[in-house]
Amino acid sequence: MSILLKNVIRPEIFELSAYHVPPAKGMIKLDAMENPYPLSLTLREEIAQLAENATINRYPDPTASVLKNILRKTLSVPDDMSILLGNGSDEIIQMIALAAAKPGAVLLGLDPGFAMFRIIATFSGMSYVGVPLNEDFSLNLEATLTAINRYQPSIIFLAYPNNPTGNLFDMQSIHQIIQEAPGIVIIDEAYHAFAGVSFMDQLAQFPNLLLMRTLSKLGLAGLRLGLLIGRSEWLEQFEKLRLPYNIGVMTQLIAEKVLQHYDDLLKQTTVIKTERSKLLSELSDLSGITTFPSEANFILFRTKRASEVYTELKQKGVLIKNLDGTNPLLKDCLRVTVGTPHENAQFYYALSQILENKNF
Ligand code: PMP
Repeated sequence: MSILLKNVIRPEIFELSAYHVPPAKGMIKLDAMENPYPLSLTLREEIAQLAENATINRYPDPTASVLKNILRKTLSVPDDMSILLGNGSDEIIQMIALAAAKPGAVLLGLDPGFAMFRIIATFSGMSYVGVPLNEDFSLNLEATLTAINRYQPSIIFLAYPNNPTGNLFDMQSIHQIIQEAPGIVIIDEAYHAFAGVSFMDQLAQFPNLLLMRTLSKLGLAGLRLGLLIGRSEWLEQFEKLRLPYNIGVMTQLIAEKVLQHYDDLLKQTTVIKTERSKLLSELSDLSGITTFPSEANFILFRTKRASEVYTELKQKGVLIKNLDGTNPLLKDCLRVTVGTPHENAQFYYALSQILENKNF
């Protein structure tokens, strides 16, 4: 490392690995929990019209008030709660961490969990504490409460359902965590549409509870729009870290338009859930595969020599996520996003061929 680099860059940044996104051109892309279906042709034509007339020579509405009102109605956000928008929910995690990064402040997550909680905590100047889940990926309440007591985290992030495991944690245990937490608890409901359960109607009950959602898994990943829902006393502080024009003109227009057709997105979600059950039972029937139940739009499974299987799938043109080596509980685990029936069939065919050749 050159002296100049060392003088300028913080040591924890040197130690950090960037969030890895492998190239996916031409692949069957089942690695990032995207919705595999495009918008309807009519909607795309309407969006083309919007683009034609958009005032992109001007900055966007910094408050995105029209969009926020539509989101409030569509997602049934309670009247007494505020909304903050992020360029993806990743950006919201960053605003929260930056606001809370007092010297020595701790962000607590559950591991294995969403990798960005740790990465963002670290580059924002917070310390990350990850509490291990049980072997079946359920929440270890005792260990979590002990860690809360010991580290006094100002921020706790819980994904519900959890990524990369796909399960929902026990709600009573989460209530206990919220009650014991000395700071705020953010429930990240990125996969809410596939699970159907939510903490939305519990926000009023817990003054230290906030909720995060994203449109990414619903078919708008390319747009980058996430939201935080909670009491204005908290959101007013996080707003100070939001860069003034973080939600662009086109994002606002397209999201407003698509949200008027929210039912279409939910119909796609229903198809994805049916496909999830089908793929889950097919995978469970394969010898050499252990599957884990999922309430999200992906399936975690274990196989022998997972890294080899992952690489061979890639060679056959199927990209999924290799989690082997990322956490001791995820030994030999891979995660596949539920795609279209055709994509799922291609993945399944490639995987069964690989397993057959290996005699698992
Ligand atoms: N939270 C969880 C649990 C996720 O899995 C993801 C995306 N993989 C995100 C947040 C980030 O979503 P966005 O596209 O809104 O930044």
